[in-house]
Amino acid sequence: MNTEIRGIVIDPGHGGSDPGATGNGIIEKDLNLKISQYMYDRFKELGIPVYITRDTDETLNPTDRVNRILNAFGNREDVIVISNHINADATTADGAEVIYALRNNDVLANLILEEIEKAGQNVRYSYQRKLPSDQSKDYYFIHRNTGVTQPVIVEYGFLDSNKDDPEQLKNNYEIYANAVVNAVLRYLGIEGQQPGTYTVQSGDSLWSIARRYNVTVDALKSANKLTTNVLSIGQVLKIPEPMSDGNSDVETEIIYVVAPGDSLWAIARQYGVTVDQLKQINNLQNDLLNIGMELKIPTKSTIPPTSEMEVIYTVQPGDSLYRIALANNITIDQLKKYNNLTSDMLSVGQKLRIPSATQTVYVVKAGDSLWSIANRYGTTVDTLRRKNNLTTDTLSIGQRLYV
Ligand SMILES: [Zn+2]
Repeated sequence: MNTEIRGIVIDPGHGGSDPGATGNGIIEKDLNLKISQYMYDRFKELGIPVYITRDTDETLNPTDRVNRILNAFGNREDVIVISNHINADATTADGAEVIYALRNNDVLANLILEEIEKAGQNVRYSYQRKLPSDQSKDYYFIHRNTGVTQPVIVEYGFLDSNKDDPEQLKNNYEIYANAVVNAVLRYLGIEGQQPGTYTVQSGDSLWSIARRYNVTVDALKSANKLTTNVLSIGQVLKIPEPMSDGNSDVETEIIYVVAPGDSLWAIARQYGVTVDQLKQINNLQNDLLNIGMELKIPTKSTIPPTSEMEVIYTVQPGDSLYRIALANNITIDQLKKYNNLTSDMLSVGQKLRIPSATQTVYVVKAGDSLWSIANRYGTTVDTLRRKNNLTTDTLSIGQRLYV
């Protein structure tokens, strides 16, 4: 699939005087906003044009909402609209749903469900809903009044489910938001950036790849269960953790001095951490900041493992440790250790904790250049530019780069 799009509109449902559904400690409008802001940032990072209909707790009537949607990138077929919602009124229901417009096919909707399921949430189905008084029209205004765009309503789960939805929604909403981003990337035919893998090119050898990633040929072979040294072009190899070379400065502690107008949310967003992590590491009891206050910014090594860093996977019929490990780009050993498993036996419905893939973030220090960083990580300046969506080669100290 290779779909070109003009832009993505993210629409946090409800807001202001309309809270949406409430219950079990969840207020729909607030969770919708958090999901949407997270999603907005991810698309921004990826360099995909994106617009959000509200960025605060604002009351938006349907007309204003639709106007913002249509004005963002125009009334065009190549505009995707993602309206984020939390479901309620579960009787026996649990899990995510996607509703798509009568004028669209179900491809994007089903990719979203597929990715949300991979992220560990139960899913129900995708569907269209017609207006009872006129079967040619959509039931929801977000489909009916949004011209020729491609709108989907994503319901992430039921806040009043008596199954596991309420807790999952509270703990894992960022993972589900990210799942929707991955679905859109698949829809657009953009390969999801799989950290830790390498696709074999013509001229490669195990030795050259091992050297490039600072691992041994043996480690590379065992990570990929290779019995020979023969590679084929296009083969995808898992790259094991690099050898330690005493470089402990990959993650430097950052102290951030609060400036006028700062908020915890904005600072967290800037450094790619959560507000909770910021509060935890700085022992903050509330969200108030004073100008000039020094905040420690958590880095990969100081972020404690929390439920936000992992995915809960429910074992399906036919699953094996091997299949699950492979799908999540980790080893069977890591999976077993992480879940304190003593045998390889799984039972259907069993919940497994999957450590989320970690991406190495390099914090720029004085004297660094794109070239020196590229060299250190065995990559190219071009790759760094692309991965980080850089428009200039000028770096600032403390800037975070994906390597
Ligand atoms: Zn809603």
